[in-house]
Amino acid sequence: MATGAGWAPARSVERHGAPRGGSARSKSVAPGLRRPSPSPARARQAADHDGSADSCRVRVAVRLRPKNAQDLAHGSDFNSCVELQPECKRLKLKKNNWSCESYKFDEIFSENASQKRVYEVVAKPVVESVLEGYNGTVMAYGQTGTGKTYTVGRLGKNDPSERGIMVRALEHILSIVSLETDRVAISYLQMYLESVQDLLAPEKTNIPIVEDPKTGEVSLPGAAIVEIKDLEHVFQLLQIGEANRHAANTKMNTESSRSHAILIIHLQRSSRIKEEINGSFSNDIHGISPDDLPLVLKSKLLIVDLAGSERIDKSGSEGHMIEEAKFINLSLTSLGKCINALAENSPHIPTRDSKLTRILRDSFGGTARTSLVVTIGPSAQHYSETSSTIMFGQRAMKVVNTIKLKEEVDYEILYKKMEREVDQLTSEMERQQKLRRSEKMQLDKKLEESEMSFHDLRVTSNMQIENLEKEKRQLECAVKKLMQDLEQENGQKNLLSEKIVHLEKLLNEKKQQQLENLSKTKILADTTKEHEKEMGELLRELEEEKCCSASMKDRLSVLEQQLCDALSFAQLQESMARKLEKELSKVTEDFTSQVQPLKEKIGELISEKELIYEELKSTQQKMQQEMRQRQGLEDQILRLKQSVPDNCAEESKTSCGMVRSGSGLGSAALMSKSGKLREALSGQRGTISKIFEEVGLPNILALLKSEELDVQIHAVKVVANLAAEDINQERIVEEGGLDALLSLLETSENTTIHRVTAGAVANLAMNGSNQGVIMNKGGARQLANVASKTDDPQTLRMVAGAIANLCGNEKLHLMLKQDGGIKALLAMFQTGHNDVIAQIARGIANFAKCESRVISQGHRKGRSLLIEDGVLTWMVANSNRFSASTRRHIELAFCHLAQNEDNTCDIIASGGIKELLRISRESPREDTRNLAKKALDSNPAFLREVQ
Ligand code: ADP
Ligand code: MG
Repeated sequence: MATGAGWAPARSVERHGAPRGGSARSKSVAPGLRRPSPSPARARQAADHDGSADSCRVRVAVRLRPKNAQDLAHGSDFNSCVELQPECKRLKLKKNNWSCESYKFDEIFSENASQKRVYEVVAKPVVESVLEGYNGTVMAYGQTGTGKTYTVGRLGKNDPSERGIMVRALEHILSIVSLETDRVAISYLQMYLESVQDLLAPEKTNIPIVEDPKTGEVSLPGAAIVEIKDLEHVFQLLQIGEANRHAANTKMNTESSRSHAILIIHLQRSSRIKEEINGSFSNDIHGISPDDLPLVLKSKLLIVDLAGSERIDKSGSEGHMIEEAKFINLSLTSLGKCINALAENSPHIPTRDSKLTRILRDSFGGTARTSLVVTIGPSAQHYSETSSTIMFGQRAMKVVNTIKLKEEVDYEILYKKMEREVDQLTSEMERQQKLRRSEKMQLDKKLEESEMSFHDLRVTSNMQIENLEKEKRQLECAVKKLMQDLEQENGQKNLLSEKIVHLEKLLNEKKQQQLENLSKTKILADTTKEHEKEMGELLRELEEEKCCSASMKDRLSVLEQQLCDALSFAQLQESMARKLEKELSKVTEDFTSQVQPLKEKIGELISEKELIYEELKSTQQKMQQEMRQRQGLEDQILRLKQSVPDNCAEESKTSCGMVRSGSGLGSAALMSKSGKLREALSGQRGTISKIFEEVGLPNILALLKSEELDVQIHAVKVVANLAAEDINQERIVEEGGLDALLSLLETSENTTIHRVTAGAVANLAMNGSNQGVIMNKGGARQLANVASKTDDPQTLRMVAGAIANLCGNEKLHLMLKQDGGIKALLAMFQTGHNDVIAQIARGIANFAKCESRVISQGHRKGRSLLIEDGVLTWMVANSNRFSASTRRHIELAFCHLAQNEDNTCDIIASGGIKELLRISRESPREDTRNLAKKALDSNPAFLREVQ
């Protein structure tokens, strides 16, 4: 440490408690603590505590190199041209024997000055300042061979005393900072001919210098910045730098004396890191005041080993082009110009003239603390160089810098801190949750325990109650027994007292006897007296009795009188009765005369009834006859059916007379095939119309409710036949025939009844105005019900025919669907009977046709009700199971369904397209083929599917 008053900025600041680190301070003391008032300011001016501006002035020391061999060789010719006065920090420069000038510097180092002392005086204050967060520069200036590199860049790896400023500065910094929290990194550069080259990464040449337009801070972003691990690492890097400098100079055919070497030490220190790591965190994570923000100090130390300051022609380096020579000197010349301008307080500082001055912008006239060591040789041979070096140093001493502290918020630390706080809070939260869970578990356990103890208590109390009750019962028994004992004792006591009484009585009697004997005589006299008295009494009573009987006699006479009166009243009533009897006989006579004609009438009625019975019997006989005829006809029909091909079935509703007789006759088409059959039927129908005319419809309908099954069957057959005639259909419904038929369907268990009734309903359902009535009276439901209960193909054919007829009325479609008509129709397919299936197909075709018409007229929208009940799927699935005639109905239904656009998706999904295509090509009927083609062509979705 310097002892002189001039060169002691560190001490002067230290004296006033200025922010200074130092060897005296322990490494563990955080730099933030050392600052008197940690301000949140990001950059502030360092206080000049002693009030003098020179605390920021560039410090300049002179170092005289010891005489070398060359000096000694020239020793006789050239005496030393310098004379040092270190005690008064003066230097005398002798031009010749009579001209001498004296200069004052901040420090004068003689040739004996150690490297250690040079470091401590020149560099240490700057390094300390850098450790505090200020920028610093240490620079060596002087003629080649005067010891610049020796002073600044000497490594002294094996001999610590030889170590120059670079190694010592890094050693010093590493001894102060903590690499856990702080960061030390270096860049090592060389500048030659205005080109900056990286000595740590020699491939990087011509590195640009960048200036921050806001802060004016200069940086070399292209240069490698290597973070320092330890001193060994420092040696390694500096050695690499040295080797690269040597290699580069050889390659460029230059000497080290022509290039500037610049070591940049980047230092980053956490301002309050230690307190935060070791101390406790604030509980309020949001309440971070600006003073609590973790700050980071960023500073830079530049250690510059300049090129030789001598003029080129004298340096002995030959062979340079003029331009090159100009460049070699450009940086130094510019530095000199800048220092001159700064020393003279010139308004313009030509910093931008060279790269060196740009890099050193902060070092001279900037915010850095700067120390300059000017090296000189002793030989008078180099007087002019020595003189110019000294003049440079003198001018540099006039440069005043305004040092500034660079503090930044350390967001990394802030983030870490927050993260730690979050971690702490999370763990605290988890701890609390655990605590709560364990508390809950404890409470649950307690609850369980108390429930158990409560249960135990209840059990024990129940047991106690039982015991008490038992005890109570035992006590009651004991009490009862005691009571019995007591009663027994009482009885004994009573017996004893009775005995005592008896004994006392006996005693008394004996006493009495004695007394009696004594007073018998007296008593006898008294008794006589009493007898007399009694006699008198009796006599008086007799007298009273006599009086009483006299009054009774009076009463008797009164009663006799009353009896007489009653007798006379009875006689009167008797005479009245006789009179009434006479009247009654007269009325009876009248009544009898009136009843006689009535009786006669009844007789007549009875005979009439008998007549009617007889008539009915003959009718029955006739009907039986007809039955037989019909049976024959049925056989014929069956025979005909077998001979008639399938395709004779007709689609249209009107041509399908479902039932011509109760037992189920064939269709009209069928009949038309057989004239004989027609004759037979017309004959039969004639008979039935005759019956109809003779008996009357109401009577026939009444027979439907007959108790006798036989009569019922005949009656329903007659009705079914009548219903086959168009003219009767409406009348039968009007006269209540439909109600009777539906009730028969519901109540009867008989198969024939079911079959014929279904046929009758089917016939009635041919009439358009009847269809609505049938539906409204629940006909479809009844038919579906019958279908579900039977597997008789004839019955099913009737039911299917009836529903098929109803399918032809579009107004009833929805109702038909809701009443389960369509589902029942599909279900009947299970029979596998062709006639039934033909009716199903006819119904579906009817339905689809009417629905298609309604939809095309715009009266209804949406997909087909048939599809909703699964008809489409059924049709596609069974298409190859239908007979030819049935298939035609199904094809027609298909074509009609395909006309409705809302069915498109279902048709495609069910695979109906294939069927539709087939119909359009193979259907035996041309109109059907055309209908299918039309549906395919008019629907783009179908066309897409076909492709
Ligand atoms: P420059 O870098 O200024 O050209 P050098 O540092 O290379 O000069 O020094 C030239 C020679 O002088 C070197 O051999 C060096 O060891 C020696 N030298 C310089 N200064 C001193 C000194 N103070 N003590 C001993 N030797 C020195
Ligand atoms: Mg050198």
